[in-house]
Amino acid sequence: MTELTGMTAAEVTAWMKAEGYPAFRGSQVFRWIHQGADFDGMTNLSKGMREELKAKAVAQPVTVQLSRRSALDDTVKLLYALKDGNCVEGVIMRYKYGVSLCISTQVGCRMGCRFCASTLEGRIRDLTAGEMLGEILAANRFLAEEAETEGGEVEKVSHVVLMGSGEPLDNYDQVIRFLRLLREEEGVRISLRNVSLSTCGLVPKMYDLAEENLPVTLCVSLHAPNDEIRRQTMPIAERWSVKEILDACRNYIRKTGRRVIFEYALVDGQNAGEAEAAELAELLRGLQCHVNLIPLNEVKERNLKGVSEETVRRFMKVLEEKHISVTRRREMGDDIDGACGQLRRKTLESVRSEEPCGSSN
Ligand code: SAH
Repeated sequence: MTELTGMTAAEVTAWMKAEGYPAFRGSQVFRWIHQGADFDGMTNLSKGMREELKAKAVAQPVTVQLSRRSALDDTVKLLYALKDGNCVEGVIMRYKYGVSLCISTQVGCRMGCRFCASTLEGRIRDLTAGEMLGEILAANRFLAEEAETEGGEVEKVSHVVLMGSGEPLDNYDQVIRFLRLLREEEGVRISLRNVSLSTCGLVPKMYDLAEENLPVTLCVSLHAPNDEIRRQTMPIAERWSVKEILDACRNYIRKTGRRVIFEYALVDGQNAGEAEAAELAELLRGLQCHVNLIPLNEVKERNLKGVSEETVRRFMKVLEEKHISVTRRREMGDDIDGACGQLRRKTLESVRSEEPCGSSN
């Protein structure tokens, strides 16, 4: 089966031509795909053509298998089914400026961060560019159905964060292809300025990304002011030092003109004291950056504790006094296993079926 979802309009057209269809059918199919339609819904193609295409190709590689809406806010956690029976997670977050979707880039992850649920069983496989786009298309279909049943305007995903399961820079080529697809003329058309990519710090790939001429916001999961503390939770810290990461960030800022965002999850007794805050402020001095403090979402398999409100406040105050731009991430979807990998794990545990996601497709 050919997955058309990961192709540019030109590539879909070339494939259609090679299969013996006229070129204009290519742009029709491409437009339908980006509107979230499967072959059955491509109503300007003949029934026969739709059946032929169905036998050869995939238009929508991702479907929503389960959704959970937070009672605390409007956040929706999605569990997506992939064609091979694997599943990944996504989160829809509604902001004043639009709808942001957190997408996964791999099934599982091999980075081994101690606080993260996605990495508990390692990496199962990389997602394709088409599957990453498919996550957006499935979320858009979900939003349309929601509007239909509940009334209200149909919303679409306007912002994307690559912060779900997986390490985006460990699946570099497919992630870059996916980013380029977002700005195809007749496609979903999400501005790359509305896209953030989060990495645990794969230094050489951070340099590569700076050369792609893609104006995405680079986020770095730093979580520590020095190598010693970082090594306690992030195995990748054995490979690249904080200094090497910051050098790569400086290069990214120079090449793209965009500030870098540092994510910092506060872990009790580890990285959350005022001394660590001061060390972090010193480290980031003069850098065009922003710090995003993340309250740790405690994962039951991991023996790490979050911090009190008072500790967050004190940490923030130290940074602010040293003129480091800092915000505290809104704790969204805390009641729906919003943290990376949590919903998938729970589902895997609760279905205990032969099939990875307990799904029938
Ligand atoms: N691999 C990439 C992107 C996926 S993780 C990265 O490391 O950045 C997305 C963000 O969620 C990272 O900042 C990660 O450190 C954070 N995260 C993972 N598990 C978490 C947890 N239990 N609580 C809070 N943040 C978590």
